[in-house]
Amino acid sequence: MPAATTVIAHEIGNTIGFHHTDRANISFSCGSGGSEGGMGFGVVHIPGTPTGPSQNSWMLACIPTTIDRPFTSIDLTALCNVYAGFPVEDLYSVTSNRLNGIDASTASRRGVNCEDWANTRLLAYTSGYIFGVINGRFVRKDSNGATVELGSGWIGSEVMSSTNGFVFTIQGGNFWRTDINGNTISMGSGWAGAQAQAAMDGFVYTIQGGNFWKTNASSGATFSMGSGWTGAEAMAATSGFVYTVQGGNFWKTNASTGATTSLGSGWTGVTAMTSYSGNIYAVHQGNLYRITSNGAATLLSTAFSNTTAIAGVN
Ligand SMILES: [Zn+2]
Repeated sequence: MPAATTVIAHEIGNTIGFHHTDRANISFSCGSGGSEGGMGFGVVHIPGTPTGPSQNSWMLACIPTTIDRPFTSIDLTALCNVYAGFPVEDLYSVTSNRLNGIDASTASRRGVNCEDWANTRLLAYTSGYIFGVINGRFVRKDSNGATVELGSGWIGSEVMSSTNGFVFTIQGGNFWRTDINGNTISMGSGWAGAQAQAAMDGFVYTIQGGNFWKTNASSGATFSMGSGWTGAEAMAATSGFVYTVQGGNFWKTNASTGATTSLGSGWTGVTAMTSYSGNIYAVHQGNLYRITSNGAATLLSTAFSNTTAIAGVN
């Protein structure tokens, strides 16, 4: 009987705290019948799910014996928000379309939740939250596991970074500053084509138009630290230096003087890079490396294929 699996999953769902999604009027799935109590009676709305009936949900009140109801994307959101915690890790990545926590010593990786983070290239961490742009949605991952949408319309976001409790994003040619509640202001325009960005100690560093820009995170004041940076692939910053992969080289730039040296070549194809605890972590050809301030690279894991973003806890 196709519905058997769904019925068992449904009854477990009732047991672990999930109400019927059509509880306000169960005729939605049963064809008749009325309210089971609506949103009263201690019902708690789960962020990211509808307050009304959820089409094809495994938690609809009734199911025909001839059909099955595998989890919908909204069902997964509900399950993940209620039962997936937010493990304290050192790094977070989006790997194979899932958000993962990573131990920086062992590079062991585990899923934070089962939400779909497909196409997420941008990730930042500040003030105890993870921020990302998922298919144009600017989201914040909270310590209770909930994913809160702070805004939509972020399609085409190019780069992201964070410092001093703010997230910086370049999208639609604007340099945006967003606080942890999603309040966003423009720090300036003319930024289309940004290729890489990192932030540290109240300044944001961006490669755009071939220039290495330094922007004051409070005032937006910007000046160029140098040119010739076209084709930058990734950037991270820690302990007074900015690290950039460009032209196959791993560059180290003094954040005050702009003085730049190469720490090594052969780095073409870095898909994600961040900093944690004074070191740089880069994903190159499916491998996760730790790179020290003098350029010594240690291979930590070969299990990072399909990694689109990474962010260190800073
Ligand atoms: Zn039920």
